Amino acid sequence: MKKIVVAIDGYSSCGKSTIAKQLAQHAGYTYVDTGAMYRAVALYLSQNSMIQEFKDSDDTYQAKLLKENIKLSFLRTKEGQHICLNGKDVESKIRTLEIGNLASQVSAIGAVRRFLVAQQQLMGVKKGVVMDGRDIGTVVFPNAELKLFLTASAEVRAQRRYDELLEKGTQAVYEEVLRDVQDRDYRDTHRQESPLRQAEDAIVIDNSHMSREEQLQKVIELFNQHING
Ligand code: C5P
Repeated sequence: MKKIVVAIDGYSSCGKSTIAKQLAQHAGYTYVDTGAMYRAVALYLSQNSMIQEFKDSDDTYQAKLLKENIKLSFLRTKEGQHICLNGKDVESKIRTLEIGNLASQVSAIGAVRRFLVAQQQLMGVKKGVVMDGRDIGTVVFPNAELKLFLTASAEVRAQRRYDELLEKGTQAVYEEVLRDVQDRDYRDTHRQESPLRQAEDAIVIDNSHMSREEQLQKVIELFNQHING
C-alpha cells in the first residue's frame, strides 16, 4: 500500500499530538512530535543557563553550538514516545509551562529552526510518518500528501490545558493559562522565521465543539481518501 506524509499544524494546545498519535497508530505510521524537539533544545539551554547568551549570539555561533552539543532521538516506551536529549530521556522535564514558553522563544531563532527542520525532513524521507508542529505543511514537508490545520478558540484551548495541569496535580490559574496561550499564539504567528500559518492546501479542522472521537473519525476518513484515491 502506498505510504504518505501527513502534516498536522496548528495552535498550541489544540490537540495536535493526540490526533497525530491516534492517526499514526491507525495507519501503522511513525509519529514525530516536533514540538518536543524545540522543547528539548530549550531545556538544554535552560539547564546550562545559556538562554540569554544564546539569543544574543550570532547565527554562526548558534548553529555550531547546536550541532556540537545537542543530539536528539526518540525512544518508544510503554507510555508512548519519549524524547531523549544526549541519550537521556527528558520527556517529563520538557512538559512544563516554563519550558513550553522558552521553546516558543528559541523556536523563533533561525539557527534552531534550520537545525531541527533538517532532522525532521530526514525522518520523513521514507514517508509513512505523521508529523505535528507549526510549519510542517509549509516548510518541513510542503509536498506532504495530506495537510491538516487544527484550530480551536483560545478559551477552549486554555480550559483544556488548565484541566490537564490540574489532572497532573499541578497548580494553575485559568486566567494565567489563557494569557500564556494567547502570548504563545502571538509569538508563533508573528515571528519572522517560519511563522505559524495555514498552508494553502491544508484542510482546516476547528475542534472547539468536536469530541475527540468525532475528530478522529474525520481525520481517518480524510486519510483513507488519500490512501485509496
Ligand atoms: O507543540 P508544543 O507546544 O510542544 O511546541 C512548543 C513550542 O515549539 C511552540 O510554542 C512553538 O513555538 C514551537 N514549535 C515550532 N515549530 C514546530 C513545533 C513547535 O515553532 N514545528
